[in-house]
Amino acid sequence: MTEGELRVDLVADILARPFSRRTFQEKLDLVRGGRPTPELANLSQPGKGFVRHFQASNYERYPWLTASDGRCKLFCWECLLFAKDKFSVWSYTGFANLNCLTKAATRHQSTAGHLQATVLLKTFGDTRVDSQLNEQVRRERELHNEMVKKNREILKRLTDCVVFLGKQELSFRGHDESSQSSNRGNYMELLSFMAEHDTDLHYHLSTNRVFTGTSGKIQNDLIYAIAEVMGEEIKTEIKNAPFVAVMVDETTDRSVMLHSSHLSCAM
Ligand SMILES: [Zn+2]
Repeated sequence: MTEGELRVDLVADILARPFSRRTFQEKLDLVRGGRPTPELANLSQPGKGFVRHFQASNYERYPWLTASDGRCKLFCWECLLFAKDKFSVWSYTGFANLNCLTKAATRHQSTAGHLQATVLLKTFGDTRVDSQLNEQVRRERELHNEMVKKNREILKRLTDCVVFLGKQELSFRGHDESSQSSNRGNYMELLSFMAEHDTDLHYHLSTNRVFTGTSGKIQNDLIYAIAEVMGEEIKTEIKNAPFVAVMVDETTDRSVMLHSSHLSCAM
């Protein structure tokens, strides 16, 4: 008997929570783990003038034989897991009549129910709908992750455009951003220029009908998002700097009205 069998009475556990109610992974673990073969030192039966004890060699004789130590009964591993008849002796109540073991075991292993259970155990995992579903879910997850990765790449190009225009202090929008326009504004023109040399971006702009990232609303959203990130970055830098100097610069227009102010920090 192994240490694991001493601690866990696997057969009793399966009787308490049947195989059919377990998850696919649990089932797979049970099938791969194989049948427990406890010694059953307490299983004995008085014969004619002697006491018959359970012989562990029976496990070799009957490759399906298993037992519950706690219940002190013999079971069929195949039927315990896969029998259609859930309440038979070998799959539910257990067998303990050692005087008739050979006869009962020989009869059991040729029953249709046992043979069916044997086939189900041997082929478990090969053609299971669960495993095919698992495979389908895995493929769908892969496709989804691939799409998320591509979309992130596209979004990166869009933000690069916004950062470039912002850095060069160029305007974004055009008066006419329609596809017929000869000048669609800096943002759209820069994007289409990049798309000439970038097949992914070109494919995205020419095929995506739901989100192209070119609408005025998206341009503004990107500007606000980038501004927010930059603001947070500046705050962190200020927080970590030992000294901060603030310099305010202003210009006036021809009517001597405050036109714009420029704020810079030195750290
Ligand atoms: Zn059986």
